[in-house]
This record gives sequence, structure tokens and C-alpha cells, in this order.
Amino acid sequence: MRLDKFLANMGYGSRKDVKTLVKKKRITVNEKIIRKADIHIEPHKDQIKYDDKLIQYKEYIYLMLHKPAGYLSATEDQKQKTVLDLIKKQDKVLEPFPVGRLDKDTEGLLLLTNDGQLAHKLLSPRKHVDKIYIAKIAMNITEREVRQFAEGVQLEDGYLTKPARLRTIEDKMVEITITEGKFHQIKRMFEAVDNSVLYLKRLAMGTLHLDEKLKSGEYRELTTEELDQLR
Ligand code: URA
Repeated sequence: MRLDKFLANMGYGSRKDVKTLVKKKRITVNEKIIRKADIHIEPHKDQIKYDDKLIQYKEYIYLMLHKPAGYLSATEDQKQKTVLDLIKKQDKVLEPFPVGRLDKDTEGLLLLTNDGQLAHKLLSPRKHVDKIYIAKIAMNITEREVRQFAEGVQLEDGYLTKPARLRTIEDKMVEITITEGKFHQIKRMFEAVDNSVLYLKRLAMGTLHLDEKLKSGEYRELTTEELDQLR
């Protein structure tokens, strides 16, 4: 990898900025002062230092976002705000993308990463990763609906959903756990039983739970523990 790319990826500014750092002799590679920013380095092997401080190479980024309503789960859009608009410039350098989609009006846990392997693992239908949501619904659920969700609900296009767990939390508020991620799945499941979703928030995806300390629109990096459990 080129040194200027490495430094830019590690959040040391644009390629132009890092060129200036190099010119100012603030960067060393294996204890040697470097004068050219376009030299090749081995990020895993070479010791790159900035003002004598070692720069830890980071290839992947994992961000837990408390998604607010009103943002698309996409990396860019011509007209509408996307969840990437909530991410600081320095955290966008490694190009994180949302793992799966929440509807524009859905809130809650959204993982953003550039780790394609982990994203695939979490999204693969064969892995049956639990996704837990809370929903405000139009009418209180009955035992019959709980049974229907547990057996699978037939959506309007004929698709039979995998078993889902449903339980009442309070009046017209339910917790629902699904293992798939079909388009508008939860809204369509409730519509299939003549009910409807008025508000939806995701609380968990697999072992990853939304940090209650994160306010809507805020995000943080995953902890090592969270990441280890997720993998
Ligand atoms: N199900 C939905 O209907 N919408 C979401 O955003 C997530 C699950």
C-alpha cells in the first residue's frame, strides 16, 4: 500500500494533507524519516510512526449507529439523507456501509462496516440471525396472532415467513423476533393478520444490542467483545 493512502485511511487527512506531514519530516517508517509520500509500505509489517507515535493499522471499521427515522439505509442518494450523512468524515475513510436495511421510518440498531465477510454472515438467510424489534401496533395482539407468527405468516405475495416470536410489552407495544430480512417484513407480517405497524425500532441483531447510551443519530465503534461475539 502507498504510504499516503495508508495515512489517509488511518485518518490523518487527505492525500494532500499527509504529503505535507511527510514533507515536514513527521513520519517515519521503521525509524527512518520519510521524504516521499508515495513510497510503498507493508501495513502489517512496517512500523509507521507520526511524531514518534506508532500508528496502529486498522483495515476494518465497525460502527453501531442508533438510526433515526428519516434516513435511508444506503451509502448515497441523489435526494434523500442517508445514514452515511450521520458518520464523521474521518470514520468514512474506510468506506463503511450499512449491514442490511432498516426502512426510512424505522429506528434503532444499524451496524455499519467495511467487513464484507461479517456482513455476509449476518445477512445470510441460512445463518438465521435473530433480529429483535419493538413495534407500536394499531391493535393489541391475540393468542391467535402469537401462534400465527410462531408458525409463519403468509404474506400478500404468497411467501410464508419463518417462525417469529411475538410478545406483548405493554398496551399495543410488542417485541418481535425474526430471523429473516425480507423487504418491509414486519410491517407486511402485521398487515397479513389485519393489524398494522405504527412505529418500529430494532433493538438487536444476533449478539449485538443497541447501546442505550447512544442517542438517536449517535454512533460508536464496537467494542472488541461485541465484535468477537458477533464473529
Ligand atoms: N421490517 C420492516 O417492516 N421494516 C424494517 O425496517 C425492518 C423490518
